[in-house]
Amino acid sequence: MLQSKLFTKTRKEAPKDEVALNAQLLIRAGYIHKEMAGVYSFLPLGLRVMNKISNIIRHEMNAIGGQEIFLTVLQDKNLWEKTDRWDDGKVDNWFKTKLKNGTEIGLGSTHEEELTALMRDYIRSWRDLPVYTYQIQTKFRNEARAKSGIMRGREFLMKDLYSFSKDEKSHAEFYEKAKQAYVNIFNRMGIGEKTYITHASGGIFSKYSHEFQTTTSAGEDIIHICEKCHIAVNAEIKGEEIACPICTNKDLKQDKAVEVGNIFNLGTRFSEALDLTYQDENGEKKVVVMGCYGIGLGRVMGTIVEVFADEAGIVWPEEVAPYRVHLVSIGNDKEIVKKYVDQLYSKLLEHNIEVLYDDRDVRPGEKFADSDLIGIPWRIVVSEKLMSEKMIEMKNRKTGEVKKMDEKEMLKCLKI
Ligand code: ATP
Ligand code: MG
Repeated sequence: MLQSKLFTKTRKEAPKDEVALNAQLLIRAGYIHKEMAGVYSFLPLGLRVMNKISNIIRHEMNAIGGQEIFLTVLQDKNLWEKTDRWDDGKVDNWFKTKLKNGTEIGLGSTHEEELTALMRDYIRSWRDLPVYTYQIQTKFRNEARAKSGIMRGREFLMKDLYSFSKDEKSHAEFYEKAKQAYVNIFNRMGIGEKTYITHASGGIFSKYSHEFQTTTSAGEDIIHICEKCHIAVNAEIKGEEIACPICTNKDLKQDKAVEVGNIFNLGTRFSEALDLTYQDENGEKKVVVMGCYGIGLGRVMGTIVEVFADEAGIVWPEEVAPYRVHLVSIGNDKEIVKKYVDQLYSKLLEHNIEVLYDDRDVRPGEKFADSDLIGIPWRIVVSEKLMSEKMIEMKNRKTGEVKKMDEKEMLKCLKI
């Protein structure tokens, strides 16, 4: 992509009412646009990152047998009354609206009801089970406080998978697979080290309900970490004694964290209320056992920004970066420089490297500042002086290391 043609430009300032670092940086660098509190549009750079994130999630969900679907945003009030979740007292963040004829409907904040009801048309016998379906879709929630940028939107993308199993045992087997898939997802996104499988302390679902919490000062939760087991406890009740669920160590480290995902045993809560049953091998009627597994895509993207950003701007891990290389040419107005950088650009593209090519006619200092703000993992600088030495300059955005090298070494650096 030629940066001169990229429709977003970097900005000196984010909107004054934007208090979250992730949104400030993403707005200034041209990834997102703020429409109102908790509501953000995604621009070309931002959409590229979102697509990288969703592809990692897709890949891992497909690997455990997930099948992608796409449910509706408009939801039937009757189903939610059956599970006793329509009333504002039960779920207080519903966006509700009315059809022309006065019928009340809800904008999806989650999809247990709709999908459980849908499955009644497809699950009849034990042969139809298990089913693992997921979607990546916009959710609407009237969040009371939306001060965490894209980490807490009123409209946001969520991956939600729902599992339908014939009994607790087969549910538990899948649950473990899903847990591992989540570990893979956060590792691939570069936040594995800072992400802890987090147990709720106590509670009836504690064995089969886990949060994935990533430590960051922007987090709204406090978790208690056992570094040895790389696991944490989220204690909601003050004063109780907290121990590591694996090694029982009580010497845990407190840290702020954000919930990037969760996995949950639903048991028969929804299948019973909505009558999702099947005939088992002996012809007996049984209730389907369910689980749900969520990840907030914007939440993850915002968390990555919060975790890695430095004073100069965003620092993307390679797998989610909008481009792998930021090719910055100094002196593009000179014919020989332009010719060489154009060539280098084509060569990188031939090797399937995603490149943002800063071909703009602006001061070098501005180019470097923009490059740091945008946060692409590798910056390659070409100038007339470097050309005379048959060298380029390569900067690793994460470590800050800058090295002069020839083209061959550069390709090696990029693992070509
Ligand atoms: P929280 O306690 O942070 O409000 P939640 O318990 O309401 O989260 P779920 O309903 O389980 O979250 O949603 C699944 C996932 O969706 C969460 O783990 C989180 O990653 C993401 N998520 C939830 N609410 C939001 C939001 N308002 N904006 C962005 N992502 C969200
Ligand atoms: Mg919530």
